[in-house]
Order: sequence, then C-alpha cells, then structure tokens
Amino acid sequence: MATARTRRERTAEQITADDRAHVFHPWAAQDLIAPLAVAGAQGSYFWDHDANRYLDFSSGLVFTNLGYQHPAVVAAVQEQAARLATFAPGFAVEARSQAARLIAERTPGELNRILFTNGGAEAVENAVRLARLHTGRHKVLSAYRSYHGATGTAINLTGDPRRWPSDQGTAGAVRFWAPFPYRSPFHSDSAEQECERALQHLDDTLAFEGPSTIAALILETIPGTAGIMVPPAGYLAGVRELCDRHGIVFILDEVMTGFGRTGAWFAADHFGVVPDLLTFAKGVNSGYVPLGGVAISEEIAATFGRRPYPGGLTYSGHPLACAAAVATIEVMSAQDVVGRARRIGAEVIGPGLRALAERHPSVGEVRGLGAFWAVELVRDRASRDPLVPYNATGTAAAPMARFTSACRERGLWPFVHMNRTHVVPPCTVTEAEVKEGLAVLDEALAVTDAYVV
Ligand code: PMP
Repeated sequence: MATARTRRERTAEQITADDRAHVFHPWAAQDLIAPLAVAGAQGSYFWDHDANRYLDFSSGLVFTNLGYQHPAVVAAVQEQAARLATFAPGFAVEARSQAARLIAERTPGELNRILFTNGGAEAVENAVRLARLHTGRHKVLSAYRSYHGATGTAINLTGDPRRWPSDQGTAGAVRFWAPFPYRSPFHSDSAEQECERALQHLDDTLAFEGPSTIAALILETIPGTAGIMVPPAGYLAGVRELCDRHGIVFILDEVMTGFGRTGAWFAADHFGVVPDLLTFAKGVNSGYVPLGGVAISEEIAATFGRRPYPGGLTYSGHPLACAAAVATIEVMSAQDVVGRARRIGAEVIGPGLRALAERHPSVGEVRGLGAFWAVELVRDRASRDPLVPYNATGTAAAPMARFTSACRERGLWPFVHMNRTHVVPPCTVTEAEVKEGLAVLDEALAVTDAYVV
C-alpha cells in the first residue's frame, strides 16, 4: 500500500528522472529524446502535469480507436481482474472464447478460428508460420513500403523503408513493389495503369521466384506506417487471384487498419477481398491491454485438426486483454463507431485536409478514408520531391521537427513519420475536435511551407 501511494505521489520531475535513468525507449536514440510525463487522458485528449492538454491526432500508435479511458472498457478490465485476472492458454475461458467469437463474426469470409498473440508482430510471426506449415513451402513475399513489426521474421518482411545493419535478412523473404500512384514505382499515369502494372510486376516476380517455393504473400490492406496508400480498385482482387492460381497463402495485415479505423470493420471489406489469414492487434481492444492475433480460414485451421500447431505464447488470449476486446467490440457495435469513422472521414477530415492542401504549397497530396489519413509534405509540388529525405536525421529532419513543435505548442499531438503527418485520431473523434486539430495544422503547415523551393 505504501509503495502504491509513493508511486502515485511522484512529481513530474521524479517520473521524468526515473524514465531517463531506467527506461530504454524503443525506436529512439536514448540521449536525444525528452519523453513527456503524461498525467492523464480522456477521450481524444491527454495532458501533462502542468495541465497542458493535447488533442491526440495519433491515437497513441494508432490504437486508441475508442479513445482514452472509455468507461465500459475500463470497467470490463476491472471486473475481469476481480473475477479471474489470469489463466493459462490451454483452457476454455469465458472472456477468451467470447472475444474469439465476436472477432470471427466480424472478420470477412470464413476466417473463423482465432490464434491470440500479445501484439501485431507476433501475429505476423504466427501467420507466416501457419502458412509455411500449411503449404510446406518457405518463401514469403512482402511489399517495399510496408511495416509488419519489429521481431525476427516481421522486421525482415518490413520494407518501410527502414533497414538496419543488424537485420539478419531472413532467408526466403522476397520483396516486391505494391501500387502507389503518387510515387509510382511503375511510372504510370493513372490508378488503372498502376493497378495493371503492379499486378504484372507481381506475376513476373512469382514466375521468377518459382510459385511452388512460395508459402505466403503478405500485404497491409492499406499500408499504414509507410504512408496510408489506398490501393487502386482491383489490385487486391488481382493479388487474391494470383495467390489462388499458385496455391499461395494470402495474408492481409490489418494490425493498423482493423476494427473500424478505415470506416469498416476491416479494410478488406472496402475491396470485397477475403484473405486466408488476417492479422490484427491495436484497435481490437483500443490497446488497453496488449492483444493481437491471427484470424485463420477453416481450410488452414483444418491442417492442424489432427496434428498439433507447433507454436504458442504463455499469454495467448490473456483474460484481461480479451475482456477489453469484448467490451471494445460491444461498444463499437452498439454505438456504430465504424459508421461514425466512415462519416467523419468522408464529411469532415477528408474535405478539411483537401482545403488545407489548397492553401499550403508544402502539401503534395492528402489521401485516406475513415479515421486514417496521410498528408504528404513536399519541397516542390511539381517534382514531388519529399520535404525531408527518407530516414532523415539531424538538420535534414529539422523541417518535420519544427512542424511537430508547432503542433504541440498549439495543443495538438501529431503523428509524424518521414515526410508525412498522418491524421489518425480515435474513431470516436467529434467534428468539433477534428476542426480544432485542422485549425492547428493550418498554422503549423506555415512552418513546412517555408521550406518549399
Ligand atoms: N503490422 C502493422 C500493419 C503495423 O502497423 C504494426 C505496428 N505499427 C505491426 C504489424 C506490429 O505491431 P506491434 O507493434 O503490436 O508488434
């Protein structure tokens, strides 16, 4: 009790001092960061110990689809903790079986079996393992401009672009170019041409690699971290066809796009495509307790009907995480949060960002849907030269750092990656909140406009 009270009474300075001395932060140069000491959060906002409040246009790391401290989700976790705080994976536990059913009922097609993990990267690891065991093949194809997680196989399928000298370059990871009309790898002039050429390129890649060596092809339905690039109509259906033709397992990674983010339960719903495996995490329970998983087709699940699946995790389907998922999905269903996200994207975020693009020469393109938008910043609209080079550090990254500061000083917490800011608020964000955030972006974009040549 004394310990708990002491912990809660620490000042912002003490919290920061402990953090700097002992927390090793992911994705960071430890000496160059100054993490904000957070005091609390509610809905679309969080605040520090000096009562500076921030509108969170990043949803954490794109996971608080229901916003912070949703009372139903908090209560569900508390009730579960009081009833049965933990239990091993090999048992039928109410919260786990209920979460699995609710998820399976919402995934497209017959993806009826759920393998739970603690997050997105582990979901990708297990999806690849399932595909390899199901097909007896080894290679996996993934897209340049993708993010699949930071563990062994997942990071080697990632082509963000972020590569590290220490990456082992997993044998059998083969990358290809997926469509991106704004920066076309195929030099195409239209979305239709981009689709056609991207499918031809994939067909060629499969032929040269040898289709019978390929276990799986993994794509983010709408690549997120790499730039929220909505694929042209027909592309994913074309990929599905190629996978079917060659017996390749089609994995859609919906870790970022699942559970309402794009204004559909899953982004695959926009394209009428059903994968063989679908990975999820983040929005499944708004990130209140770590949870991820793979939704598995009946056909692949049947491979493990009479022989064991050789993989698993101690905390697979943790009761607290599953209770949070049940509450999240129930709230989303009862309050049509998915429809809300679709409408706020179509009626408020999209038009608002397009209006900003007209006023600000540093905005090259805005693209997205639902609560999932990217603003691509350029030095020159005609050449589309990115405002900062990919993986910029030091002074090269200064324009984006200044943009970030300009937003934060005005009470907006933006998601910034390379030469882009992503507008990814909670799916529950209100029209007034979006307008408040857009007004800040309008001022902050004056900072990036100054770098336009
Ligand atoms: N896949 C996608 C599409 C993601 O966006 C992410 C996380 N940003 C991951 C996988 C990895 O998830 P996690 O960080 O939970 O391991």
